[in-house]
Amino acid sequence: MAEIRLKNVSKIFKDEKVVKDIDITIKDGSFTVIVGPSGCGKSTTLRMIAGLERQTSGEIWIGDDCVNDTEPGKRNIAMVFQNYALYPTMTVRGNIEFGLVNKKIPKEEREKLIQDISEIVGLTEYLDQKPQNLSGGQRQRVALARAMVKKPKVFILDEPLSNLDAKLRGQMRIELIQLHKKLGTTFVYVTHDQVEAMSMGDEIIVLNKGTVQQMDSPMNVYHNPENVFTAEFIGTPAMNIFAYEKVKKHLPPLIGNVGFVGFRPEHALLERMENGSGSMFLRLASKIITMETLGAETIYTVENAAGKMNIKSFIEPFDNIQEITVAIPYEKLYYFDEQ
Ligand code: ADP
Repeated sequence: MAEIRLKNVSKIFKDEKVVKDIDITIKDGSFTVIVGPSGCGKSTTLRMIAGLERQTSGEIWIGDDCVNDTEPGKRNIAMVFQNYALYPTMTVRGNIEFGLVNKKIPKEEREKLIQDISEIVGLTEYLDQKPQNLSGGQRQRVALARAMVKKPKVFILDEPLSNLDAKLRGQMRIELIQLHKKLGTTFVYVTHDQVEAMSMGDEIIVLNKGTVQQMDSPMNVYHNPENVFTAEFIGTPAMNIFAYEKVKKHLPPLIGNVGFVGFRPEHALLERMENGSGSMFLRLASKIITMETLGAETIYTVENAAGKMNIKSFIEPFDNIQEITVAIPYEKLYYFDEQ
């Protein structure tokens, strides 16, 4: 178990700074997810923690040790990747046991460890199989077991579920959450998928262009996004964001430097009448452009003076109506600075 501390860590590849002065503390025992679009520096950050990449500047601490000059094998970190990297000619047992090479553990103790861990990840009956006879989910479990057998201080997982189909991915998410609870070890998990981040992490680091946008609990990232990037990145459909100028005249006067206004698609009401009552709403006369019915909910794309926006509605879809009013409670509006 260990806390991880990145002190002003940067990485330059050629002339490009891909990780910019990251200064974060990953709590001991947490399930911390680093999330952001492709190319934003997630893997590089993870690889620097693991020691597979050397930071250009800054310090990395694991527990009480500055590991800047510690080679990867000595950092006591286990890594799991999306492509499993299993040995095809070895059995499941052999693959898991491989994690113990160089650990000089007596055979009997090794076998006990393998048994215990394969039980935790549900592989006991597959120990004598080769990876090619296993499903994607089972292979991912072997990769996890191989990492676990080393009893690392920290697990780092780089998009470990992205090669699995949607259903299996959902199952594995739950299994990983349970595994983390059982082990109590720090997990640092990288994904570009905000749903994965929200459902798995107890701490989320939102990264964009090598810069930390926000580090917070999933609920805070969702309910109190600190900037437009985080607001738009977390949540499906994305938060609607538009220029304050376009809706200013419909809103009570504000103090401060507001550039953008936003609201979540599920927080707006759709009114059939043009002038619904109630003064605590931002009302925008709108035209329905598309309507996507998903069963329990319908996603409307509407257009109005502020631009195009998505509205998620749980009431029955409107038939033959094109003109509606979007009503957003003032209390559900978000305000962001000029950027
Ligand atoms: P992510 O994991 O968020 O997709 P990466 O950390 O893999 O992003 O990459 C961040 C940026 O650094 C990208 O622009 C990528 O092309 C670049 N990059 C990553 N590794 C190298 C490398 N070994 N050499 C040069 N550029 C690299």
